[in-house]
Amino acid sequence: MTHQEKTSKIRKEINAAYFQLKKAYPIFNYQNTLGLIIFLGSILAIGFTSYFWYKGEIASWLMIIINAFFMGVLHEIEHDLIHWLYFKGNKVVHHFMLFVVWILRPLTVNPWIRRTLHLHHHKFSGTLHDVEERSVTNGEKWTFKRFLTTADVVLGGLMRLGVMFKDMDKEVKAGRLKLEISHKLRKFMFLSIIPITIIAHVVLYFFFGDLILDYFHKTFNTSFVLPEFIKESLDWLNIIIYTILLPNLLRQFSLHFITSNMHYFGDVEDGNVMEQTQVLTVWWTFPFQLFCFFFGWTHSIHHFVVNETFYIRHIGRKKAQEVLKKYGVRFNDLGTFKRANRFHNHD
Ligand SMILES: [Zn+2]
Ligand SMILES: [Zn+2]
Repeated sequence: MTHQEKTSKIRKEINAAYFQLKKAYPIFNYQNTLGLIIFLGSILAIGFTSYFWYKGEIASWLMIIINAFFMGVLHEIEHDLIHWLYFKGNKVVHHFMLFVVWILRPLTVNPWIRRTLHLHHHKFSGTLHDVEERSVTNGEKWTFKRFLTTADVVLGGLMRLGVMFKDMDKEVKAGRLKLEISHKLRKFMFLSIIPITIIAHVVLYFFFGDLILDYFHKTFNTSFVLPEFIKESLDWLNIIIYTILLPNLLRQFSLHFITSNMHYFGDVEDGNVMEQTQVLTVWWTFPFQLFCFFFGWTHSIHHFVVNETFYIRHIGRKKAQEVLKKYGVRFNDLGTFKRANRFHNHD
């Protein structure tokens, strides 16, 4: 069987399973309403948890964990919105939802711009110009640097840019990437972090910088501490840092760690969906999966059946995973960590 035949069989069987699921539970046909309820429910959960933390009734670590979980749900809502799965016919609600999920996840790139980068990812997953995945360290050797820059799309992003642009030039020369698309991707990568993403990252740099400098000041009597006006700004931003930025840092690290290791990179055959991803369910990834709504369990399914909501994908995952396994999609290929996410072993 060719990979195209396998892919089309997988699509057919998973779609049939979804059809059965919706027939058994007709409530799933109210897609817009369900999306809106999950969206509002997550925001309420974040709001209440943050309020009780502010009142001193919930410990900081617990609030951060709960908020990070629901921000992971909002990430799935954003991804569904990017694929136009909610309120396609009501642009006001649609764009309002996109705006809110960005504001509550301000370390991420602008979702309207991400739409272009993400659709490019679906078309060219695992190629040298799959900029969305490369922007989260996919394809890099596993080092301390990769660990440190996994969550960081601003400074980490800058560090990755040189190699990425060189590779894109190579792709243009080889005729695998159109020049105008290469220009557009570069422009969009810069535009996508202006201004919210950059501001959110800079606040966190100062927050951690302050913690580290204070530690050295108290422990080793070093003289350098941040100027008073920055410390005052950090005090003033304290609520936002704790309730929004720190949970998002945890969520973003978890998502980027999972996604950049379940997508293959660099030697994926053109258009071969079977080689684009693996299913990642190994037990020790569970803490990370918790904060990206079990992305490793289900994102492979999404590469085959794109236009389905995250909750259907999650509920129907058992059957869908069986189908993937039957046709030979990889499961828990931990060798990817040693191969810098290459599909094949090259040495
Ligand atoms: Zn997608
Ligand atoms: Zn993907």
